[in-house]
Order: sequence, then C-alpha cells, then structure tokens
Amino acid sequence: MIRSLLIANRGEIAVRIARTCRQLGIRSIAVYSEADRNARHVAAADEAYRIGPAPARDSYLRIDAIVAAAKRAGAEAVHPGYGFLSEQAKFAEACAQAGLIFVGPSARCIAAMGQKIAAKRIAEEAGAPCVPGYADEDQSDARMLAEARRIGFPVMVKASAGGGGRGMRAVHAEREFGAALDLARREAQAAFGDPALLLEKLVERPRHIEVQIAGDKHGGLVHLFERDCSVQRNNQKVLEEAPAPHLSPVVREKLFARALAVGRAIGYDSLGTVEFILEAGSEEPWFLEMNTRLQVEHPVTEAITGFDLVEWQIRIAAGETLPARQDDIHARGHAIEARIVAERADEAFRADVGTITAYGEGPGLRFDSGVARGGEVTMFYDSLLAKAIAHGADREAARTRLVAGLRATQIAGVATTIPFLVDALEHPLFGAGEATTSFIAQAFPGGWKPSRANERLARAVAAILSAEAGGGGQGGAWSRLRGFRLLGPAGGRAACRILVSTAAARSTLTLEATGRDCFCVREDGSSLDICVKRDGDSVETECDGAIVRFFVAIDGAAIRLAAGGESYEFDVRPEIDGARSGRAASGSGAVRSHMPGIVSEIRVAPGDRVAPGDVVAVLESMKLFISLSSEVAGVVREVGCVAGQTVQAGALLLSIEADS
Ligand code: ADP
Ligand code: ADP
Ligand code: MG
Repeated sequence: MIRSLLIANRGEIAVRIARTCRQLGIRSIAVYSEADRNARHVAAADEAYRIGPAPARDSYLRIDAIVAAAKRAGAEAVHPGYGFLSEQAKFAEACAQAGLIFVGPSARCIAAMGQKIAAKRIAEEAGAPCVPGYADEDQSDARMLAEARRIGFPVMVKASAGGGGRGMRAVHAEREFGAALDLARREAQAAFGDPALLLEKLVERPRHIEVQIAGDKHGGLVHLFERDCSVQRNNQKVLEEAPAPHLSPVVREKLFARALAVGRAIGYDSLGTVEFILEAGSEEPWFLEMNTRLQVEHPVTEAITGFDLVEWQIRIAAGETLPARQDDIHARGHAIEARIVAERADEAFRADVGTITAYGEGPGLRFDSGVARGGEVTMFYDSLLAKAIAHGADREAARTRLVAGLRATQIAGVATTIPFLVDALEHPLFGAGEATTSFIAQAFPGGWKPSRANERLARAVAAILSAEAGGGGQGGAWSRLRGFRLLGPAGGRAACRILVSTAAARSTLTLEATGRDCFCVREDGSSLDICVKRDGDSVETECDGAIVRFFVAIDGAAIRLAAGGESYEFDVRPEIDGARSGRAASGSGAVRSHMPGIVSEIRVAPGDRVAPGDVVAVLESMKLFISLSSEVAGVVREVGCVAGQTVQAGALLLSIEADS
C-alpha cells in the first residue's frame, strides 16, 4: 500500500483527498502557491511545500515544480485531483519517470480521451453512438461549413481540447457560422493551445447524464451507476444527483453498457466518467466525452454506494484489484450535491472575490470545502468554495434536506450562490425531476433575482449594526454620538439618520434607541421596533414577535447580511449634513458642532467678514469631514476652539456678529 502521497491540487478537492489519506494512514503532502499560504488545504495535509507564484501556470500547472516537491518530500505517489494537470498525459508520464505512482489512469488512457475528436471515434467504434456531428481531421472552412449544413443548424462548435465548459459556442444560423468558427478557433488556440474544432448538432432539450466507471490494472471494470448533472450555468454543472430521475430501465442499461464498452476499448485502469447527453424524451444517450479523473460531483456516487472513491483510486494505483465486484455494488437512496461558488448569481454568475469573514456549515449535510473563516478568495483560481451533499431515502428527502442545510449555511465576506441554489432546488421543475440544461433560463427567465422577504428588516439591522460598530467601523465617534444622543439634552429620545444604500437604491433611515439593544427604525413614514442580540458573526433580531437570525460581515461601511438563504449587501453611512448644522446656528450667528468630533480646520479669524454659506470651520467626525458654514452675513467676533481640539456635540465653535 502507498504510504505517502502528494496532492497536486488546491481547494476542496485537495482537502478531500487529504481526508482519505488520513483514514488510510497515508502521509499527505500539500503544495501551495504564494496566494495559498493560509489556505485550508495546506492545513489539512501533514506537510506542505511552496511551488511558485499565485498564477496557476507558475504553480499548480508546473510539472517540474510539483515533481520536485514530491521528491523533496519523499512522496511515493501523486494525486492530481481534477482540473489543473489531472488530464495531462505528460504529467502522468513525468511522475512515472520520477518513480512516482500517479493516482489516475495510465498516460495511454489519458491521451486516448484527451482530445474530443479522437475520443468520439473510439466511442463510435466501441458501440457508443455520439451526438450527430463532424469530428475529423479536415478543419478547412469549406469542409466545416459543408458539414454544418449537413448536420443542420443550430450546431455546437467545440474545441477538441476543451474542458470545464469552456471552448464551445452554439451557432444558430448559417450567416453566423463563418465568424463563429474563426472566433472559436482563436479561443481554442489561446485557451488550450490547440485550434482543432468539432461540430455537433445542438441538442435543444438536453439532459447531461454520466456514468461513473472504475477499472483496475488487472482487467477489472465496473460501473457505479449514473449521475444527472443537467442543471448547469455556462455549460458547467451547478447541481448533481444520483440516481438520475425518471430514467427508463432501457436507457439506464444502455448507459451502463456503453460506458463500460468505452472503458473496455481503452483498457481503462482507474476511476473515470463517461459523459452522455440525452435529449429529453429520447431513449438514445449520446456519448459526449470521457473525463479520465475524479469528478467534482463524485460525492453523490459515494453517498448512494457507500464507497470512498478516492480510496478506490489509491488502491487501484497501488496495483490492487477493484475493491468490489459489480454484483456487490448497490445504490441506496438518493443524493444531491450543490456547488457553492463565489459568484453573483443575480449578475450572470460573475465571479466575486474577498475575505471570508464568517463560515458556518448547515446541519445534516456532507460538506466538502476548501475554505474556512479568514480565507481569501482570489481571482487566480476557479470559484468553487465548497460542495454540500445531502443523502436521503428518496429524492424528495435528499432535496428537502439539502434546502434546509443550505438555508442554515452561512458564508459571509464574499458573494456565494447559496441563495440561488436554494431557489433552484425549490423550483417545481427541479422538484419534479424534469430539469434539462436550460433549467436556469426556464426557471428564472430574465435571470435569477434574489427573493427579498427580509430586505426591510435587513436594512434596519444594517443601520443598527453600523451605529453599534461605530459608524461602519469608523472608530468610536459614532458610539460616542449614540451615547450622547441617548442621554440627549433635549430630554426626549434622540435620533440619528443613516443612509443605507445598495447599487440600485439609497434609503434614509432614522434610528432611535428605545432601550438597551432595542431600536425604533423609521423609513418612509413607517417604523420597525427591533431588538438585537449580537453574538460574534450572528445577530438575532426580534421584530413584531418574530425572531430572524442574520449572519453578518462588516468591512468598513460595507455590511453584508445573510438569513434563510437570502443575502444582502449594503453601504451604510451616517447622514452628514453640514448645512443642517448651519441651520441649527442660524439667526444667532453661533456656529456649533452638531456632533462630537475633532476640529480639523478653522478658516476665519476674529474680525473677518463672512457671507452666508461661507465655510468657517471643518469638523472631522467618523472619518468624515463636515464643513460648517455661516448662515449669516457679518463679522467673526470670537473663535472658541483651535484646530485639533476635541469637541462635544453642541459645543460653540465660533460666533459671528450678524450685520443688522
Ligand atoms: P466535472 O466534469 O468534474 O464536473 P468540470 O467540467 O466542471 O468538472 O471541471 C472540473 C474542474 O476542472 C473545474 O475546475 C474546471 O475549471 C477544470 N477543468 C476541466 N477541464 C479543464 C481543462 N481542459 N482545462 C482547464 N481546466 C479544466
Ligand atoms: P466539457 O469538456 O467542457 O465538459 P462537454 O462536451 O462535456 O464539455 O459539454 C459540457 C456541457 O455542454 C454539457 O454537459 C452540455 O450541457 C453542453 N453541451 C455539450 N454539447 C452539447 C450539444 N451538442 N448540444 C447541447 N448542449 C451541449
Ligand atoms: Mg464535460
């Protein structure tokens, strides 16, 4: 058995592999880029070695650096995870040459399936029909156009070397074809270093169904059932489940037989996935491609079969025979996985970056996560943060468990797709098991928008938190203000005004303390009475007899709140109105500070003439500069303060004798 293993990857999959190493008593060795020094996968392994700067091409894609780290650590084996070098035959070869066991298929198998064009030929010959199309050597424009006409528009243009949902585009009409071909070729060259393209009929209502297979180095080959990964965005998976809902026994048998035939054709000798596309209503699954690696969504197969697939990979790589025979592999219940990514689902799944300020996993689920509180999400790597997996006796049990677990999952500091995932899982189309790859477009026409049942409450809570934290984390001045206001000289309760804005709108809230940790928050003529209890990252609010728990992350004026699958991001600032202070002083010619602060500047001296609106002093409060102006025309009589002086609210700063 292997005793030490280097994990040539990062994020959740590196953490996942380290977990199995621990269970098997294998010493695990992580590698990290300069951006990942404090990443969770580094802490998860027994040892770790730096392999280069942040960009993947300088670190996680550097075969020489990774092999050198393995030698330095005295590792016996290397696990490539998925993505990065996992499907590069030359990495498997480099490992072999360095005397390292590659935990994956032989370089020969990787190479056979590395190019979609060649892979499709192998599949056809093995008796697994492909999506009707054209995949051959002649890449001339004329031939491609002729083939596209034969296939019939719309067609899918794909990079033969593509992967990860990239390098493919749908072309709907002949007049777009020439330009699309050109663009696709250039993109393929730039992204994958290979301009070869293939054409496929665009399947209009496709389901993505794939089969998990496993082969060993002794000719053994089994399948571990199918997964349905039809819910996708940008041709990348979002929700995955096993088994696939509503699959007829005929189709299921075809899937298994074809997947095994493809595996047998290349003498497949590790864990792998054969992907198919199934037109809704059809009984003919078409071969798409084969991934010669561990799949992101492998946990749903683990959940229903009870096997640890990383353990399978390691045992197979060590030369053992398959851990189970086909007859001993059974599926139990149903499992669904949700990929939690750092993206704005409401903005076409734009990636988000930031520091994770709160991280809490909901109950009842398996979490495979690559992040923790304090972790940095950077633009260098893909956006997958964690995967949440629910297993239940049937599909409905798994689905409801996943929804409940996700609702209670809190990740703050960076936008995540959790609110979107909850809505997707709750959509009737998904509930009925009828999602195709157009699910998101169908379920959320015009794009997904967050439900905002708690928005008003969230806004009020943000205002309260801002006041408590000191004006959006801007020091203690705000707290002093609050203290002053509560004890306010006016006798009655004092209020302060707070601006709460989103990218779309700005609201002015009036906040009034009504007791210890209780506030009345007014907005647009109506009010909410809220009591808050803060405990670390969470705030429990009681409003109108209902308790809502928010997770919070405060970063300066930016306040993020999440509750029950909804998340909010506000910019919160105290309302600063220099003119009002002027008004307060009007008539008398007395210029007072209307809040505690530091006198930053005095612009006049006794005897100076001022006109109404002239700025006479500048006050610094809550990191803001507030200009104080004269309301009257007259002569400065007395200056009662100096620059740098701390003043209380209401302090007389200078007096102006108004012209009579
Ligand atoms: P799966 O099929 O396992 O769900 P995806 O297709 O979503 O996986 O890709 C898994 C990971 O591998 C993603 O991080 C993706 O960006 C990456 N990936 C897959 N193929 C390639 C490739 N050819 N080049 C670069 N990255 C890839
Ligand atoms: P990748 O290597 O990027 O994973 P695939 O060939 O596996 O590429 O396709 C990824 C996804 O793109 C599929 O799951 C499917 O949703 C969509 N897709 C691929 N080919 C077609 C097609 N011919 N028609 C419609 N959708 C397709
Ligand atoms: Mg694929």
